[in-house]
Amino acid sequence: MGYINKIAFINYLNCPTLGWMTKKGMLPKLTGLNNELLILENKNVHKMSWQLFPDAVNARGLKVFDPSKGLISNPNVKTIYEFSFVVGNYSARADILQKFDNNSWHLFKVKSGSKYKVKYVQDMSFVAMVLSKAGIKVSKAVILYLSNGYRLGMDISQLFKELDCTEKVELKAQEFLSISDKAFEVLESENMPRPYLKRGCKNCPMFDNCMGKNAKRHIFDLPRLSVLAIEELIALGADTVDKVPENFELTEMQKIARNCVLTDTTYVSENLKTEIENIKQPFYYLDFESVTTIMPLYEGIAPHTQLLTQFSLDKTDGVGSILNHYEYIANHTKDCRREIAEKLIEYLGEDGSIVTYANFERISIFKLASLFPDLCEKLNKIADRIVDLELIVRKNYYNVNFYGRSSIKKVLPALIPEMSYKDLEISEGGDAAAAFAFMAMGLYDEKKIEETKENLLKYCAQDTLAMVRIHQFLIRICSHK
Ligand code: SF4
Repeated sequence: MGYINKIAFINYLNCPTLGWMTKKGMLPKLTGLNNELLILENKNVHKMSWQLFPDAVNARGLKVFDPSKGLISNPNVKTIYEFSFVVGNYSARADILQKFDNNSWHLFKVKSGSKYKVKYVQDMSFVAMVLSKAGIKVSKAVILYLSNGYRLGMDISQLFKELDCTEKVELKAQEFLSISDKAFEVLESENMPRPYLKRGCKNCPMFDNCMGKNAKRHIFDLPRLSVLAIEELIALGADTVDKVPENFELTEMQKIARNCVLTDTTYVSENLKTEIENIKQPFYYLDFESVTTIMPLYEGIAPHTQLLTQFSLDKTDGVGSILNHYEYIANHTKDCRREIAEKLIEYLGEDGSIVTYANFERISIFKLASLFPDLCEKLNKIADRIVDLELIVRKNYYNVNFYGRSSIKKVLPALIPEMSYKDLEISEGGDAAAAFAFMAMGLYDEKKIEETKENLLKYCAQDTLAMVRIHQFLIRICSHK
């Protein structure tokens, strides 16, 4: 029998089945460079927070089985960080505990975000609940989160802001306490709680093995279904598209998707031809990659700032033959946004449409324009030439194998099955960002940097090539109409 930790308990609150699966260790392990970066950065932020409490005792690595004794009862100990403890069936970890008086402690939760989230109070309330089981009172509960005003090189006291959540935590911890025995009974049971469909299933990591297991064409395959619509459909017992009542209110695109599923057909709108014809030659296909780290990588940048790091650009003729391929990757030791803006102006010429997939490139170019006023006019002209291919697909074309999505990773295998990302060393945007971050943090040697840059260029080039192929596919369809 293991102890119930915060993740199992919070998952139990959202779904008893998910909580049970978490307790039994059935959840898929988080992998990938993106996840590694997150773990590393969170650890670093925690370590930095310790500098605010120079006299604290580091309890890292210890697991205390009677938290009311030992460190807590030692009159010389005023502050403890990384305090892991077990009470009854529950285990928890307090980021920082500071003695207030003989009867109570202040609890600090260190968070890497720069905005309040409900989840933070849940996390602290769980710790306060387990402490209360050992008779330890939390008289103040504070979130330490990151300040947007911090810049690299500033004193660490300017990195953190405090948010007093005592009242919220007191209430929530009481609520948790009142259900903790029941939660234990369910989570420790041999029998899995019976799953039932709820809106949280949509993003559940166990969906494919649970509610989605035998469901063919689930309602979650309808594009952009609102939370309200999901709840109404669940209440009506409609878990698959064929069960959605005829008179149920859906958007035009949802009706189209439903019809495609029911009739096993593909939808092509009347407008597709016009929209495709509005894309002007020569065609440019542009894709950016970016990195967002919790702690700034370079001077003058705030925590959580998104920085452009590379782009791929293909110029083609009308039949998709690549006339020129341009690519750029930043020097990882400095902020290269200015150079990116200048290269874009140099490579993109003055005529022809610039095809992107989604709106990220347009928004990023506007941001560059506001950052570099002397380049503003030229960058705004570039932004005006952008055509969002994803928007064209989303409005005008639906294939049941899109499963309600329009991202390039869903659309490409449905339209161009011979093309994929699976043979690439880096095949996800999140991993591309993390790989760049590791280089910028000085964690890779020269050889690894060279390999990584090569892999990043290949990944970004695949995105632009995918756009070329999808665009050509749509041109072909329109030529038959
Ligand atoms: S798919 Fe739904 S019912 Fe199953 S574990 Fe996830 S949230 Fe719970």
